[in-house]
Amino acid sequence: MTQAAYTTPQGRSCAGCSLCCWLPAIPELNKPSQILCTSWAAGVGCKIYETRPGTCRKFECVYLTSPQLGEHWKPLACHMVIAHQPRANRIVIHVDDAHPDAWAAEPHYGDIRRMAAALYPKNGQVLILSQGMATAVLPDRHKVLGPYSDDKVLVTTETAGPNGPVYDVTLYSEGDPALGALRKQAGAVDRTTPV
Ligand code: SF4
Ligand code: SF4
Repeated sequence: MTQAAYTTPQGRSCAGCSLCCWLPAIPELNKPSQILCTSWAAGVGCKIYETRPGTCRKFECVYLTSPQLGEHWKPLACHMVIAHQPRANRIVIHVDDAHPDAWAAEPHYGDIRRMAAALYPKNGQVLILSQGMATAVLPDRHKVLGPYSDDKVLVTTETAGPNGPVYDVTLYSEGDPALGALRKQAGAVDRTTPV
């Protein structure tokens, strides 16, 4: 969701890529996930860049912003887009429906687990969105959460384990009584920022 001509100091650019205008849903435009936005044009990028919606403005492509991320994360090559949501301290990996298991293969899976190990101690989360399903990647495992939509709430809980904190993530619908109880629980972190 950057301009086609933009190039990072490391030489990375959006040239030829449109995956962030394709894979994520854009609620303001009623654009479903996995469909190219009608405002995208070859050779131009976003045709409404100056007036693009807030979801697009807030989008951070980790491939472009994190030079330490390996070239194997180039969106066009790996069929995934990594987005960082700073307010929720959440990494969301949008996976192309045509390659739904791309995230689970190496070297990507190991990288994702390392991201999880770095983020959860800082109240962060790592989420995979593939074929409409959400999967949380945790430092020690991954957990299928279920069908995802923007009105769902992700809650992280932390318990003491023999080798340090053990994290868990649960997906709730807003209004679920169990969510109200969990929000009062020490060690539970509510992440409501939409994906
Ligand atoms: S996914 Fe990243 S590299 Fe591809 S067009 Fe979007 S911002 Fe550019
Ligand atoms: S409005 Fe522009 S930046 Fe947003 S998804 Fe559409 S083409 Fe991409």
